[in-house]
Amino acid sequence: MTVTTEALPGLEPQEGPRPGSRAARMLMPLAADVVKDMAAEYGVCLRPVGLRRTDLTTGQTEIIDVPCGATREDKCVPCAKRARRLRKTQIREGWHRTDEPAPAPNPATEEQRSLISLRAHLEYFRDQAVRESKWDEVGEVDDAIREVEEAIAAEGLRGTVAPAHDKPDEPKRQRSTRRRQDAPALPRQKVQPRTIGRAYTAPDGTEHRPSMWLTMTLDSYGPVREDGSPLDPSRYDYRRAAWDAITFPRLLDRFWQNLRRCVGWNVQYAGCVEPQRRLAPHAHFAIRGTIPRTVLREVAAATYHQVWWPRVDKPTCRPVWDADAEVWCDADGLPLQTWDEALDAIDEDPDAEPAHVIRFGKHVDARGVAAGSKDIDRTVGYITKYITKSAADCHTVTTDRQRAHLERLWQELRVTPCSERCANWLLYGIQPKKAHGKLRPGNCKGKVHQRATLGIGGRRILVSRDWSGKTLADHRHDARAWVKALLGVSGGVDQVPVTESDDGTPAPVAWELAKPNDPDMPPMRHRLLRALAQRMQWRNAINAARDRAAQYEQTANDNEEERNGE
Ligand SMILES: [Zn+2]
Ligand SMILES: [Zn+2]
Repeated sequence: MTVTTEALPGLEPQEGPRPGSRAARMLMPLAADVVKDMAAEYGVCLRPVGLRRTDLTTGQTEIIDVPCGATREDKCVPCAKRARRLRKTQIREGWHRTDEPAPAPNPATEEQRSLISLRAHLEYFRDQAVRESKWDEVGEVDDAIREVEEAIAAEGLRGTVAPAHDKPDEPKRQRSTRRRQDAPALPRQKVQPRTIGRAYTAPDGTEHRPSMWLTMTLDSYGPVREDGSPLDPSRYDYRRAAWDAITFPRLLDRFWQNLRRCVGWNVQYAGCVEPQRRLAPHAHFAIRGTIPRTVLREVAAATYHQVWWPRVDKPTCRPVWDADAEVWCDADGLPLQTWDEALDAIDEDPDAEPAHVIRFGKHVDARGVAAGSKDIDRTVGYITKYITKSAADCHTVTTDRQRAHLERLWQELRVTPCSERCANWLLYGIQPKKAHGKLRPGNCKGKVHQRATLGIGGRRILVSRDWSGKTLADHRHDARAWVKALLGVSGGVDQVPVTESDDGTPAPVAWELAKPNDPDMPPMRHRLLRALAQRMQWRNAINAARDRAAQYEQTANDNEEERNGE
């Protein structure tokens, strides 16, 4: 039975609350929220960084907002979206290239060569001074070396000439042969410097270079439900899941190395690592060129990574720091095994096994993607789908089962050692490398232990060196150059006008971070409003320029048609 209330004449039920009521007022959007929403819509950074620019000739200062450049949406949506757009461009540009991206470096200039020879002489003098134990001279030469190396960097040479002398030479641990990685059972070829795929010629004579799309997963840790939670949590192997998540980047590195050696050319990739529903990481890659699927499967099956660390089981130790002896001790006050002792024990044990071995799961999915096909956009979108979110936010957790699963995995990640220097080693009765009193066992600062990362602590976007031949900064510059070309402007439109000194060169300026409570720092909302207005003008100008360009083309076409019609 339904009850209907009859409305009194003249008092028909209204849509929404009574005007002027509190409820009605609460329905009105907050002005500040609208500013933020509009800023986001127009791609204006929500947490700009204020930089103070001081003109060193006039002494005038000005605060200039630069975007925060966040890559995660929970920090700044517009910046994260911009970062994703750049990544998409980068992936698209490298995928079906038909030429080698990295041009050979320019030959060294005369100036660069003379700096290198000066550096060589200094190395010689330093060596002599060390031999003669003239330590004050060594210090002087070191200063000179530092200066020359700075000059070398300023001269536009990449990398360093030689490792620095500053650090006292630590005796390097000699690794026993047993702890080296075994070679995979794969054919091995010399890797040619080629990075582009093979060209195929169709019967009609057209040439095409297809590329690939590859997905790789990890092994099963126990059966899971549709929502990713384990059927039987008590039998799900959380320990292996945690170790696998932490070491996954190493496995991927090995895979590319093995693949290149197996196929004999310098295969290039761009891809992402992200959690599956079961919260284990998997990886998607765009690969330039084609590789037979059977080869990809073989290499994946043969690839593994061994972690030669002390084997640990359950965290049982309650370590205490002995400040006098500067060692970590167990509950009875006995010093714990040091890192070196633990490694020596592995070396001496003929039956030692690695602490962990990570391999791929059976699921290796490889597909061809032709140049110019509409699959490209979809796949690039797929690779970049989650990159603006932190790992734990990629899949929405709605059920208690899912929450419990995430919690359980995180608890395991919290106590899994992340590196040789991880405080967690103390939980297993081992002092980590370079142990000190400030370590907090079970609370290591390493990213992989954080709930938000799900153990995927490193970079989530992986792009090989010779993918597009450009860095993200290059791609960013390209995007700006495109807009400038469209607007027909040259020079820095988004920069402040630079005062010129008498000889026409730009006046020297100094940049520093402006502090939020500097008296001339406008309130954040004023800065947002200003940036919003600027961006709106900017966008209008772009649209107008586009219209003009389209109109111009249309007129040109019309004229052409007229001419042809005559
Ligand atoms: Zn931002
Ligand atoms: Zn750690």
